[in-house]
Amino acid sequence: MLDYLAGEGRGASIIAGGTDIIPAMRRGALRPRKLVDITGLRELRYVRHDNGLVRIGALTTISQLVSSVAWLGRRYYCFGAMDIHFGSWSIRNMATVGGNISSGGERDLVQVFRVLEGYARIRSREGERIAPAWKPELREDEIITEVFFKDLNKNSWTWFDKLEKRAANGIGIVTVSLMLRLDDDGVVDDVRIALNRVRGKEAGRARETEQFLKGKRIGYETLREAMEVMGREISPASDFRASGEFRREASKILTRRAIEDAAKMITAGGEAE
Ligand SMILES: Cc1cc2nc3c(=O)[nH]c(=O)nc-3n(C[C@H](O)[C@H](O)[C@H](O)COP(=O)(O)OP(=O)(O)OC[C@H]3O[C@@H](n4cnc5c(N)ncnc54)[C@H](O)[C@@H]3O)c2cc1C
Repeated sequence: MLDYLAGEGRGASIIAGGTDIIPAMRRGALRPRKLVDITGLRELRYVRHDNGLVRIGALTTISQLVSSVAWLGRRYYCFGAMDIHFGSWSIRNMATVGGNISSGGERDLVQVFRVLEGYARIRSREGERIAPAWKPELREDEIITEVFFKDLNKNSWTWFDKLEKRAANGIGIVTVSLMLRLDDDGVVDDVRIALNRVRGKEAGRARETEQFLKGKRIGYETLREAMEVMGREISPASDFRASGEFRREASKILTRRAIEDAAKMITAGGEAE
């Protein structure tokens, strides 16, 4: 198949679950010469622990990712939350991890992999390369085979939350992804926050807010000050769904709640190992 994509099949598009590409073709936004269906590559459907890494095959569906929390551990609540926030039941059964990060932009797993610091393994006829999962920048002859990231320890917790007008149906007005790690004294050892809009229409990390929180104990005053930092740091764009000001305030509320809940789960010993 890699030979085909680099040769006779040039200009072809890969189709996995088809939940992004088919609507784009119907709208006329994409007009691929050919479609190459990769859903038969069953060896690319897996979620596993491997030598301190978590590895997720590109053809893993969102439903399979949700179920994987049972063996990955409850600290991967960010994947479990997809059951509530990602599309409908039928979309989750078709949509794949590889398709989500290939489509990029504000999509949900793109933000989750920002906070997990996930990397995409990408294959072509020329060999293999590794790129950040939130920015794979694919050529047309390349295919993502898996996403991997360092397994989180028991003092960590992840979160994903989405504000949307229609329940679980598409891109959120605001999404917040979080990875929080506390040390044994309950002080923030590491924190990563990703928003679907940080500046304008760009998704990204709220790095100044993260920096403010590091080394501090989570409490009312710390979170109040952290949200002031976030208010100055982010400037999301307005569109027909919500104003930038509304998005900024909603990002602060969702982030604050995410940090509070994650900290509670860690200090309550959320995950016994
Ligand atoms: C009703 C509806 C609701 C949705 N809700 C959400 C939501 O809540 N959150 C969200 O994030 N998204 C949502 N989406 C968007 C979509 O479901 C996801 O982005 C999904 O993960 C795409 O995966 P797919 O397998 O269907 O990709 P496809 O549509 O098959 O492919 C999408 C793109 O990725 C490329 N591609 C696919 N797999 C690979 C691979 N392994 N290597 C290289 N390129 C590849 C394709 O060529 C194409 O360009 C929704 C879509 C619909 C129609």
